[in-house]
Amino acid sequence: MTRVLASDLDRTLVHSSARMAPDEVDSPVIEIYKGRGITVTRQATLDALAALHETGGFIPVTTRSKEQVARIEPIWAMAQTGWLVCTNGATILRHGKVDAAWEAQIDQLCADSAPLAQAHAAFTAEFGTPETVDWMPLLRDCDGVFLYCTLKLDLSPRDLESRANQLFAPLGWRAILHGRKLYALPNGVCKGRAAQYLRERLEIDELMAAGDSELDVELLLAAEHRWCPIDAELVEHGAVPPRTRLTQLGHVGAGEEIALDALRWARETVAAG
Ligand SMILES: [Mg+2]
Repeated sequence: MTRVLASDLDRTLVHSSARMAPDEVDSPVIEIYKGRGITVTRQATLDALAALHETGGFIPVTTRSKEQVARIEPIWAMAQTGWLVCTNGATILRHGKVDAAWEAQIDQLCADSAPLAQAHAAFTAEFGTPETVDWMPLLRDCDGVFLYCTLKLDLSPRDLESRANQLFAPLGWRAILHGRKLYALPNGVCKGRAAQYLRERLEIDELMAAGDSELDVELLLAAEHRWCPIDAELVEHGAVPPRTRLTQLGHVGAGEEIALDALRWARETVAAG
């Protein structure tokens, strides 16, 4: 029997150095951006993920674009000899190359959703642009697949997420607020669907999943064994799917708990033979 961990990265397995506790200063820096170390994890997490990866037991599943995930050097190195789901499930890479069969499926899944330019036009007509409003410093697209904007939460409209969802529903898009970012995605672009595809393609018997945000809910629900960090937004919002294990520690401690627990589960099946 095979058990594979399909896990979100940011705030689940890897964490912002800005939120690091003072006693975590030895945590390895795994992402440098504009000369600054911005992402950390624990060495034990990296070791457990590498051990899982060795037997094909780890698939990173992230909302980051390919270029953004490539900055996390140890994860990107693993992806060169394995699988990686990026762009929130829109793109699957095998050994760093796009999986064409999934690309074709995504095109079909998004056939009923409006093109990105139309969703962008609808959003800016309703809410404005970084040039015209003071609460949206940035509005971008990710790989031409979906949109996201950063928010000044104290200034942005309080009902932004629900209004955006009303606006997007007829376009076959949805909006998800996560931290100080609002994501707008075609309905077919979903981490859970990508994980289901890989489950069938790789004949995975049992899926293990971990995630911290609304963007991870379908991924968590697709798995038999699931984890959520105790300091996650899903916990804060009371939106953790049933039968999900919460970690005892937060931040990099949560990442380590999840990686070690997943490795233990994966090895149990090997031992059971
Ligand atoms: Mg996350």
